Amino acid sequence: MAGEPQDDCLFCKIVGGRIPATVVRETETTLAFRDINPQAPTHVLVIPKVHHPDAASLAAAEPAILADVVREAGEVAADEKLDSYRLVFNTGSGAGQTVFHAHAHVLGGRGLQWPPG
Ligand code: C5P
Repeated sequence: MAGEPQDDCLFCKIVGGRIPATVVRETETTLAFRDINPQAPTHVLVIPKVHHPDAASLAAAEPAILADVVREAGEVAADEKLDSYRLVFNTGSGAGQTVFHAHAHVLGGRGLQWPPG
């Protein structure tokens, strides 16, 4: 059922404490933790605690929680004292999505190219 924890989902396991993560912020609806393979000096993932496969699915089902994710991304950037940052929702394997539980990448602390690769 949409939103329910999935046994085979890595990020549901992190939410449930079954896989460790370096958590930097937590709210009732979200968790933010450092990416294990950082692509920038700051690389934090912000995820909803509920399971939806991508950001658009989350927006359709629980828009207030997507807003929580985006707001928390801004709080991470403030905590990390970032003047600017990039917020990325890879969506679909062709765009580099590897974990099918909605998540925002917060990237900053170095110059970021545009367009992205
Ligand atoms: O957008 P994408 O689905 O590729 O992002 C998944 C991210 O989850 C990757 O950047 C990967 O390094 C990260 N990851 C993590 N901790 C894990 C497994 C994956 O931070 N245990």
